[in-house]
Amino acid sequence: MKIIETDCLVLGAGLAGSTYALRAARAGFRVELLSLGEPLQANSDWAQGGIIYDTDPDPTKLTNDIVEASDGTANPAAIAQLVREGPVAVKELLLEELQVGFDRDQAGRLDLTREGGHHERRIIHAKDATGHAIMASVVRSVDATPGITRRRNFAGVDLLTLSHNAADTHERYEPLTCFGCYALDTGTGEVVAFVAKKTVLATGGLGGIFLHSTNQPGSVGHGVAMAYRVGARLIDLEYVQFHPTVFIQPGTQPFLITEALRGEGGVLVDAQGRRFMDAVHPLGSLAPRDVVARAIKQHLTETGDNCVYLDLSALKADFIRERFPAIHAHCLAGGIDITRQPIPVVPAAHFSCGGVHADLHGRTNVRHLSAIGETACTGLHGANRLASTSLLECLVSAKSAAQADIVELKAGVTISAKPREWTSPAREVDPMLVRQDLQLVRTTMWNYAGILRSPRRLARARRILLELREDIQAFYRDCRPTRELIELRNAVQTALLVVHAASLNPVSKGCHYVVTEM
Ligand SMILES: Cc1cc2nc3c(=O)[nH]c(=O)nc-3n(C[C@H](O)[C@H](O)[C@H](O)COP(=O)(O)OP(=O)(O)OC[C@H]3O[C@@H](n4cnc5c(N)ncnc54)[C@H](O)[C@@H]3O)c2cc1C
Repeated sequence: MKIIETDCLVLGAGLAGSTYALRAARAGFRVELLSLGEPLQANSDWAQGGIIYDTDPDPTKLTNDIVEASDGTANPAAIAQLVREGPVAVKELLLEELQVGFDRDQAGRLDLTREGGHHERRIIHAKDATGHAIMASVVRSVDATPGITRRRNFAGVDLLTLSHNAADTHERYEPLTCFGCYALDTGTGEVVAFVAKKTVLATGGLGGIFLHSTNQPGSVGHGVAMAYRVGARLIDLEYVQFHPTVFIQPGTQPFLITEALRGEGGVLVDAQGRRFMDAVHPLGSLAPRDVVARAIKQHLTETGDNCVYLDLSALKADFIRERFPAIHAHCLAGGIDITRQPIPVVPAAHFSCGGVHADLHGRTNVRHLSAIGETACTGLHGANRLASTSLLECLVSAKSAAQADIVELKAGVTISAKPREWTSPAREVDPMLVRQDLQLVRTTMWNYAGILRSPRRLARARRILLELREDIQAFYRDCRPTRELIELRNAVQTALLVVHAASLNPVSKGCHYVVTEM
């Protein structure tokens, strides 16, 4: 077994992992940066609407919007950190250093937009492809930074801890301590042990465990499942946010329709053209996401319709083409000219508000293991996330975790443990079984643990997933690991964790909505 030693091992090269890597490497530490695929195959690259850049001297307005969106549940300390440190992080990295091409007005001022749940215009954007504009610059910077070794097509399999994978069995009496990760080189099929002084989970979200999701393929909560297996604390996993407006066509990847379209005047209507959101919430179509997603689901259940529509007739055609070129082009390719026709939309799983519990420096309850970005949960989002907070959370959490790790690394971190040898079974995995099982995880989650949950549905989901996990584990023990098999193993585990968290929480709050009579 090949062993690679490093100072920092970062699992995930989205905005959180990449910006952590930049900071650690610039402080003089060796960084191994792993991703499932190419650097731009991350949800960070797909972000459309924008990132909050709140320069209002009064911090209470943004604070109040985050609190309101979360239904009063978000962690005040995490909000305070985001509101305090967010503008600095955006300014120093995105505006000054990387000079990301955010939209500006003729006088050169940043163009500010609004999204659901925001009472102010405070979101900067690069047309409707903000994530790509940011990530393209970040990836260039990472690739030009000495000290970072990028490993594409490496899938983290299991974290190394003294209690689980140390070759010396006496190590298991030590406190819960991480010293790296086994990862599969999906190009060669070889499992490599990365031994690291600091290991960072930045593997993104878990939307992919649901049948309909806005997420990149592979977003199945890898970090959550890996953390669970070593005893890390998980929190708030029942709070899975469903984005209300997703354009779905059979056989194609669901395509998110940014809330910024509603911020600019788009309105949700039903098949008869009725503005059904006006009766639901004072903000109408711009109500917080959980409210809109639930209202759409309810409306579809009551009417038997397949979708609702986003009516853009209040927006000028030139403005739509200029401000939302990616959405315009995508829908046009799907047969909808959004300058003339409403967009058919449904909700889809989008963002995990919960995750691996982390303090405001990314630290988990496992020594030398941090979690940042969407994988982590500091309580910033509580039961429901305010739009456009997550890219900002990536920047803030990565910076603060890197700063804390750099201090510790400078003081000296010693890892003496050696990982146990990895042996892979010789048998090849049957791809049909893997595909079918993943489909079963996704449909089970969509139908029984989705937007509207009930104790009976959750119990059914649990039974199905427990049996499935048994099969998959047997399968995993018997077969040579592949990316698909690792994904399936983590998907079923994460799904069970979400169902378990949902079953334990009878209180409907934010994105977790329980109906007892179903
Ligand atoms: C369509 C869409 C639109 C969005 N729009 C916005 C928006 O406008 N504004 C906003 O603030 N937020 C938006 N979000 C949310 C935001 O993009 C994400 O929450 C954020 O980008 C997550 O960043 P991350 O770095 O935590 O994870 P990601 O960007 O998802 O990166 C995860 C990384 O982990 C890697 N990885 C996963 N598992 C493993 C493993 N086992 N081993 C190795 N590597 C692994 C992946 O390959 C990837 O590199 C949007 C999300 C989507 C899906």
